[in-house]
Formats: sequence, structure tokens, C-alpha cells
Amino acid sequence: MEVPCVRVPREQGEATRSRLADADLIDDDYDITVADEEGVLYIPVTDPDAAPDDLDVVSRDVPERETQTRPADLLGFEPSYERLGDVVLLDEDSEERALQLAQAIVDSDLPVETVLNKQSKVKGETRVRDWELLAGESTETVHREYGCEFLLDLDAVYFSPRLATERYRVAEQVAADDRAFDMFAGVGPFVVPFAKRSAECVGVDINGTAIEYLRENARRNGVADRITAVHGDVREVAGEYEDWATRLVMNLPHSADEFLDTAIELAGDDCVLHYYDIQHEDAPFDPGERAIRAAAGAEYDVTVETRRIVRSYAPHEVNVCLDVRLERVTR
Ligand code: SAM
Repeated sequence: MEVPCVRVPREQGEATRSRLADADLIDDDYDITVADEEGVLYIPVTDPDAAPDDLDVVSRDVPERETQTRPADLLGFEPSYERLGDVVLLDEDSEERALQLAQAIVDSDLPVETVLNKQSKVKGETRVRDWELLAGESTETVHREYGCEFLLDLDAVYFSPRLATERYRVAEQVAADDRAFDMFAGVGPFVVPFAKRSAECVGVDINGTAIEYLRENARRNGVADRITAVHGDVREVAGEYEDWATRLVMNLPHSADEFLDTAIELAGDDCVLHYYDIQHEDAPFDPGERAIRAAAGAEYDVTVETRRIVRSYAPHEVNVCLDVRLERVTR
């Protein structure tokens, strides 16, 4: 069966396999296949769009793993689901179909403890969604991504594994002398990898449970000494970190523009802002860029370094990131 695979020279096979495993991208339903004549390996991946940009993703006929019973073997069709640690996430409108999929997932050889079905969009200030527990007992799990691990409870905090590649892209820009401030930090998927690159980090969140997980994740990843986790409204916390940041992360699409004055308060003389937004596909970067320039006013020169479409969000709507350099104007 043809599935998306990363094609990699054999000598880079193990390093690439381990990189993809860290990002939880290897599709265990298929065998990793060696093509001796080409001198390459084909590593099946679950989400071709999430594979790092420097890897070559192709479609390739690779054998299914015979030793494992997959949900599809039991159902007779290929179900759609996401995996986060040992939790499977479904997005099914029909309760009957959701239960059928959950049963097949539990009966299969997937290493799964819990199956959840989406009951709402992300909502409210904390951006947590409602879930229905279809199998298992706990909504807490450990997710691994690019060499970091995150303990989190889906019932209490926001988390999206779909942003893994984007977070890796941003983390790769972080330098050891950075002072990075995540204004909406959640359980720490930005600040933990930043701190692993030796940056000094502050993560703020209005959700106290997310901040408890962020502290735990800082400990688990050996970077507790470089992360300060603050529970509160970032607008109220910002005063303690005025002019502090060399790097700011704003991952609160839909309302980040309301916090740009706070971002300007936090920015040091030379600061890179990673600004996430959700906009219509026709001009997805313009509203964010306008809002950033308005907030910066005459205080900063604004240079947009990257305009990136992260993923499609809804029909005709895209989730985008602007990487913007703010340089204080000296008079
Ligand atoms: N950065 C994290 C990630 O990528 O997983 C979390 C992003 S989530 C979309 C937005 C986060 O902002 C939520 O955890 C929410 O609790 C937090 N939040 C919302 N309003 C806030 C505010 N005024 N001050 C601080 N945090 C806030």
C-alpha cells in the first residue's frame, strides 16, 4: 500500500528515524523499508505535513506490519484519528460511530490507554475543549516531541500535537543568550525546547493547571533552572519584565492583537516576535502585520522576517505565523 514516507540516505537512517520518533511521527502500522539499489531507507510517517521541511517526503509502497492488528483490520475501513501519547483523539459527530472506532482501537495492538472524542471547539479564556471519554480512565498523558516530553491533562489544558513542527522551527532560531518570554505558555511546548538551547525563559498562563504542568515539564526535561513559570494574566505580569525580552511568543490566535501593547511593553531593544494568527486565506498576514506596526508606533522599527502558513484551520481560513523583528528607534 502507498503511504507517505520520509526518503533518506541509508547512512542517515538511524538519526532520521530517531528524530521522527521524537516527534511521534513514525507510522507503526508499516515497516521501515530498505531500498538497496537506491541506497535509501523509506520511513513511513503518520502526517507528511508535520515532517520537518528538510526531509524528503514521498509516496511509497511499503509492507504493512503483519504482527500488529490495526484498527482498520477490525473495522474494514481506515478510521481517522490523532494520537497524543497513549491517548487517541477522535472527531466524530455520531456517537455510535465513535464507540465503534473506540472499541476497535482498544482491541487493536495500538499502545493506547484512553480514547477521547471531541465534544466542542477550543473555547473560553483557557482554550480547553470538552471531550467525551470513550475508553480508559485518565485524560492525562505524556507526549514526546523533538526530544522533549510533556505531561499534560487534555481535560484541563490546551495542547495541540499538530504544532510540533512549527514549534521546532521556532526553537531552532533560539540562541543561548536569548531571554524568551511566552505570553500564553500552556504546558511549555515553546519554553521547554527554548530552555534546552540554554535560553533564559519566562512562561505565563492564566490557567493555573497549565502552569503546574509547565513547572513539572521543566523538571522532567532538566531545565527548571532556566524557566520561570508565572500563573496570571500576562497584562498584569508584564510590568515585572518591562523591556526584558529578546524573543516573544504569542500563540493565542483570534485575539493576540489585543495583547500587542503588552508585547511592546515586554520587548527589549532588539526583539523577535513570533505572532500567531488565524485569518482568511486571501490575505492571512495583513491584519497581524498592520496591528503589530500600529502597536510598535514610532518606538520600534518593524521588519517582518518570515510569513508562514502553519496549517489550514477551517475552509478558507489558515493558521499563520509572522516572525517580526522589533528594533528600538534611538534618537
Ligand atoms: N503556547 C501553548 C501551546 O502552544 O500549547 C498554549 C497556547 S493556547 C492556544 C493559549 C493559552 O493562553 C492558553 O493556555 C490560555 O490559558 C492562555 N491565556 C489566555 N489568555 C491569557 C492571558 N490573558 N494571560 C495569560 N495567558 C492567557
